[in-house]
Amino acid sequence: MSRKILMIDDDRMQYRLTQAHFKNFRGEDFTLDWAATYEEGLARLLEGGFAACLLDYQLGERNGLELIRAAVAGGSHTPIVFLTAEASERVDIEAMNAGALDYLVKGEISSRTLERSLRYALKLGDTLEALRKLATHDQLTSLLNRREFDRILAEEKERSRRFGHPFALVLVDIDHFKSVNDTHGHPVGDAVLQEVAIRLTRGLRDVDRAARFGGEEFALIIMQADRKIALEAAQRACASVRSSPIQIDGGPELQITVSAGAAEMPADAASGMELVAAADKALYAAKSRGRNCAVAFSEL
Ligand code: GH3
Ligand code: MG
Ligand code: MG
Repeated sequence: MSRKILMIDDDRMQYRLTQAHFKNFRGEDFTLDWAATYEEGLARLLEGGFAACLLDYQLGERNGLELIRAAVAGGSHTPIVFLTAEASERVDIEAMNAGALDYLVKGEISSRTLERSLRYALKLGDTLEALRKLATHDQLTSLLNRREFDRILAEEKERSRRFGHPFALVLVDIDHFKSVNDTHGHPVGDAVLQEVAIRLTRGLRDVDRAARFGGEEFALIIMQADRKIALEAAQRACASVRSSPIQIDGGPELQITVSAGAAEMPADAASGMELVAAADKALYAAKSRGRNCAVAFSEL
């Protein structure tokens, strides 16, 4: 399978030259795409779909370092190899600090050095992606982990304050989960956690986020949601988990339910900590109302 490389360079000659180098590559084939301006390059990087990017330092009025920073800030993880007209240790270091994985001087590029640099960037990019996944996701359920949840909550609180749109937190806790472990063993408990995670995610919109909050507790961040939407999301979480029994591979079929508590920022809380506390209170109320139900903090 051919992997797509994006070249961002305002010089058509450089693009032609690079195309010629690509034809000389010995290993698996790469195809080269070209963006001639800062704006087009950034837009295509953020769209994604490229295995790596060759980025020119000089881009009309703008420069490649700005573009790297904007791409990283926009969430792009595409490995970037930086190209400059002349060797400069300062630009080299700045490029690496901004997030480039390698640095090539245009006049010194041969097909072999370019191919090697691209392969190296791809390999390092894969490794970094795997590490990023490990650092931000829960191993058992593949949901976001607690640390990433905290980071996104803080980010969302800032965005909510700046743009004035509310968002909501739903905390979900599996009912009587201890008895699943006690009756069927820990591995069956783990399988239930995995399936509950899948069912919770299924009910979410693309922009919403699901995290494993703790042992058998999950957190859903519902973007741009008021109290009504938050409560609906919490009810949907409960409905989605109880919709059918969970069939454990080579094991029992279990009817699992969850309880959920919803709270909204800023109506119910002024800080991330208060929001978690409010959703937790609502969850506690759902437990005392008999479980398998959703409660909003505002109705307490
Ligand atoms: P409630 O309805 O009040 O929530 O009761 P519960 O039994 O679900 O709650 P409790 O807090 O008493 O028990 C939670 C259990 O979840 C205890 C713990 O052993 C189990 N647990 C936490 N993390 C994991 C895990 O990763 N795997 C498994 N199998 N069990 C876990
Ligand atoms: Mg529980
Ligand atoms: Mg619990």
